[in-house]
Amino acid sequence: MTECVFCKIVARQIPATVVFEDEAVLAFMDIGQVNPGHALVACKAHVENVYALDDAQAAAVARAVARIARGIREAFAAEGLSVYQANGKAAGQTVMHYHVHLVPRAEGDGMNLTWPVKNPPRAKLEEYAARIRARLA
Ligand code: 5GP
Ligand code: ZN
Repeated sequence: MTECVFCKIVARQIPATVVFEDEAVLAFMDIGQVNPGHALVACKAHVENVYALDDAQAAAVARAVARIARGIREAFAAEGLSVYQANGKAAGQTVMHYHVHLVPRAEGDGMNLTWPVKNPPRAKLEEYAARIRARLA
């Protein structure tokens, strides 16, 4: 039996409060509500991170994220919404089963993501982009 907590939720082996489900996706309330309405959109399949998603899974998650985002905005009259997704321990991922956070936001709600901007010269941006483009073929 899998030890993955989100696989257990998908298999209904442990309880979760589900908000949406289709063939590929299960969305449920995060047990650690950063703000009221904080939901997670997870792949049903055990896909560890964004790198492992196939196109159909990526599309299914993106569709569900947009749909549930609209639902959260209405249900909680959210001033803003953060869509957050971590891959790997270095990025803060704690559950190694792909999921996207939807967090309703309000001014001064205390949720902060440090964003250490560097503003390199344009030539650097060109170099970085070329490195990425070379790997997308
Ligand atoms: P990560 O840091 O991997 O992006 O986020 C994992 C999230 O999963 C955390 O926000 C945490 O509160 C949530 N979580 C962990 N275990 C459970 C659980 O058993 N049930 C639910 N609903 N959420 C969980
Ligand atoms: Zn899993």
